[in-house]
Order: sequence, then structure tokens, then C-alpha cells
Amino acid sequence: MPQPGGDTGRFAPSPTGPLHFGSLLAAVASYLDARSAGARWLLRIEDIDPPREMAGAAESIVRTLDAYGFEWDGSVAWQHESDAAHRTALDVLIEAGHAYRCGCSRKDLAGQPSGPLGTIYPGTCRGGSTAPEFAYRVRTDASAIRFDDLFQGIREHRLEPESGDFVVRRRDGLIAYQLAVVVDDELANVTRVVRGIDLIDSTPRQIWLQRLLGYRTPAYAHIPVAVHPDGDKLSKLTGARALAIGDASRNLVRALTALRQSPPHELESASVGTVWSWALEHWQPDTLAGMTEVRVTDD
Ligand code: GLU
Repeated sequence: MPQPGGDTGRFAPSPTGPLHFGSLLAAVASYLDARSAGARWLLRIEDIDPPREMAGAAESIVRTLDAYGFEWDGSVAWQHESDAAHRTALDVLIEAGHAYRCGCSRKDLAGQPSGPLGTIYPGTCRGGSTAPEFAYRVRTDASAIRFDDLFQGIREHRLEPESGDFVVRRRDGLIAYQLAVVVDDELANVTRVVRGIDLIDSTPRQIWLQRLLGYRTPAYAHIPVAVHPDGDKLSKLTGARALAIGDASRNLVRALTALRQSPPHELESASVGTVWSWALEHWQPDTLAGMTEVRVTDD
């Protein structure tokens, strides 16, 4: 049994739709990464953005993961339950002068240059804002933030020139993903973050927040994104289908193939337990080094 206080991994889906093949890849990779290291593995539903959520998606994700044989430690964590902790962290940032009110609307920022991390905030409200509607942004500087991604190698970013100060509490009052994820990973002692490469550009912002809040920085591994044969990312928007509960072994084997683990074809008709035993015994993360996308057919 993994020991409390040791390594901890997690899967943290947002309930914007049911589990699809792209999210299954992240779940499988983080599960194998954690379990092969004897680490704990947690399931956290990131349900703090009601406008983006789909009714029933959270329950459907949990049900599918269960049917696919994932065994998480403890009970499912619901991110909305740590709202008070998110707001305390926000207060810490505000009180220390790291976060400030920003009254800029999306329209105000239209036409601003974009960097590798998205639209670059020009610092308009750094000196203060009296706008009635406001977000909170965290101040950045130009120091280098470096991390060594297990799959993608060394990354280095400078937030001030590349993203500028970024939002930690949105104008609609909701806590931004960047802050919530950092607080929850710290509270759960997460030491290994394995997730899709579409989130790699968030990582320097999250490391920045960890430093400002005095948190640890976990090890990061960003897996290639699953794309349709035409090159579009697999997502709800591009019509990725919900994973069928009854097709667990076949879909797990497809996921292992996409993750370049070369499972034997016969495994598709084996039990879910047999698929996991094979996967744990043969997990070779090195095969993903430097890969940014894997092509799959979503059927
Ligand atoms: N909730 C995020 C998503 O579903 C992932 C968060 C993370 O793994 O850091 O895209």
C-alpha cells in the first residue's frame, strides 16, 4: 500500500462533458505513473466553473472511471468544496501586494499582442483600478521559470514579457483555474502532475503561484494530445464521443496503444483487471519523450 506522505498523483477532470478518449489518455498516464511508483492517486472533479459545466457530466466521469477499473485513494474530491481555501489563498496574495484589482474587460484588451502563453496583459491596472467590476490579477516579473518536464524536457518562460500579470479571480467572481489547481494540489500533497500537453503553458503560471504562496512545486509530465486524423484536437467541440461503459478493455487497450505501450491485441477481450496488470508491468514512460501529439480515431 502506498504510504501517506509519500508521492501522490492525481487526475483532475473538469465536468464540461463525459469522459472521452483524449481525457482517458491523461487518466491512464497519470494512473500508471503514480501506481508504478507506488504513489497514491487521487480523483478530483474540478467543478468550480458552472457556466462551462454540463449537467450530469461529473457523475458520468466518475462512473466511467470506476467501470474502467481506476482505483483512487480516498473519496472523490470535489473542487467546489475547497472554495474557502481558494479564497484564503487569494487574500494572502492580495495582502502581500501580489494580486491587484483589474478593471480591464476583454474588449479593453482586444488587440493586445499575444505571446506563447496567450494575450499579454500590458499592466494597465497595476497602479490601481476603481472600476465597479473587476478581476484580480497576480503581478509577474521577468525572472526565468524553468521546469524539467518528464516527457517534454526543459521549459523556460518569463511571465512578464510572455503573458503579463494573469487572472486569479475572474470578473464574474469565480476563482480562476490557475489558482484553484495550485491550492488543491498543495492541500492534497500532490507531488506528480501528469496531464495533457494543452496545459503545459499553464505550468509556469502555476509554478509562479506556488512560489508566491510558499508551496512545493510538483514534478510535471505533459502527455501528447490526442488528435483526430485531420489534426484537430479531440475534444467535445470536435465531436469526441463519450466513452462507452461496456467497452472498457478495448478503450483501455486503445489508450495504451496511443500512449505507445504496444499492448498485445488480444488484451482487448481480456478483463479490465488483466489489462491493468499488463499495463502496470509494462509501463514505459520513455516512449512518450518529446511527443506532442498522437493520432487516434475516436470510435
Ligand atoms: N481540470 C483541468 C481540465 O480538465 C485539468 C487540470 C489539471 O490537470 O491540472 O482540463
